[in-house]
Amino acid sequence: MQKALTSAALKQTNRRRIYQYVYQSSEPVTKQEIAGALGLSLPTVSGNLNEFLEEGLLSYSGTQASTGGRKPRTISLVADARYSVGISIMDDAVRMVAIDLRAQELGYRKYPKHFCHKPDYYQQIAELLEEFLDSLSLDRSRLLGVGITVPGIVDAERTLLVFAPTLELRNVPMCQLTDAFPYPVRMENDANASGYAESWTRKETRNLIYLSLERGVGGAILMGNRPYTGDNGRSGEFGHICIVPDGRPCRCGKRGCLEAYCSTSRLSDDLGITLEEFFSMLKCGNQQIALTWEQYRHHLTDGLAIIRMSLDCDIVLGGMLAAYLEDQLELIRQEVCQKTPFDEDGSFLSLDCFKSHSACVGVALYDINHFLDSF
Ligand SMILES: [Zn+2]
Repeated sequence: MQKALTSAALKQTNRRRIYQYVYQSSEPVTKQEIAGALGLSLPTVSGNLNEFLEEGLLSYSGTQASTGGRKPRTISLVADARYSVGISIMDDAVRMVAIDLRAQELGYRKYPKHFCHKPDYYQQIAELLEEFLDSLSLDRSRLLGVGITVPGIVDAERTLLVFAPTLELRNVPMCQLTDAFPYPVRMENDANASGYAESWTRKETRNLIYLSLERGVGGAILMGNRPYTGDNGRSGEFGHICIVPDGRPCRCGKRGCLEAYCSTSRLSDDLGITLEEFFSMLKCGNQQIALTWEQYRHHLTDGLAIIRMSLDCDIVLGGMLAAYLEDQLELIRQEVCQKTPFDEDGSFLSLDCFKSHSACVGVALYDINHFLDSF
């Protein structure tokens, strides 16, 4: 009995190692290369490859003729053998992305749509998803699952939206949303999903903080490339760190929070302009705008210094503001370093890679990762 179990476990291990080897190879590989790299016999590799070829997970890349005869056939990953979808729900829009097993985007769409906590709204999103999949000619049988992000705190079981100030919701069961889809659905906080996407692309960075700068200010903590969610799913709520005692009122009901000073509304809605206009005016040397930006940056770097001092790891700036920070990054780095006793080099601070797609991509990656771990 013990021997049978060991042999099954060994078979499973070999299967996983072979798939992972092809997955991680940027170029097509031969059967011989796999056997040599993993120390496996050719019949073992062949047997497993045949299974993967039959399941459509790997494919032959074609035959290559050479002067000395025929080279062995090479094998590649079928990256779109499975895919997942990420949907990001915001107060004024819905974003959708489909990604393949290598996290490459198969399609992206943004639908302007005002949030409304009613069954009709959720049903409309489910219908938009079907349209989205049709427009990309994606086969539903290859869909691993649908991830949905919301700009709020999701409970540990991911069924309750505990608090979402920008959607004006508190303690709402999310079954109305999840039940609208005929697919497995996973709910996630938007900043946590964005942080997960950034961590996926920076595998060499073990610990990472993601700070999302949108109308709401949120964040995510990733330790050892894994999300740290806290005991109540409320980790990384950097927007509600108090940076000015008895300061401006915050939507959470307290005063002086980072969000009250670093919401993107401070640079746009409050001034009756868009973020794009704000940064264009800053570039043109508008003095009032320059002063507003200086005050914003001062509060942002106060918050960043607290985060850096508390968690001592790389920090990625994301959210819609990040798209405008390319020219400002060096100055922000210098200001944070001036506020912390240990940092002279601000290279721990960077901008996000996925820009406005990060939450959608991140939440879709959970299903991809789960699939890759299932071998
Ligand atoms: Zn607050």
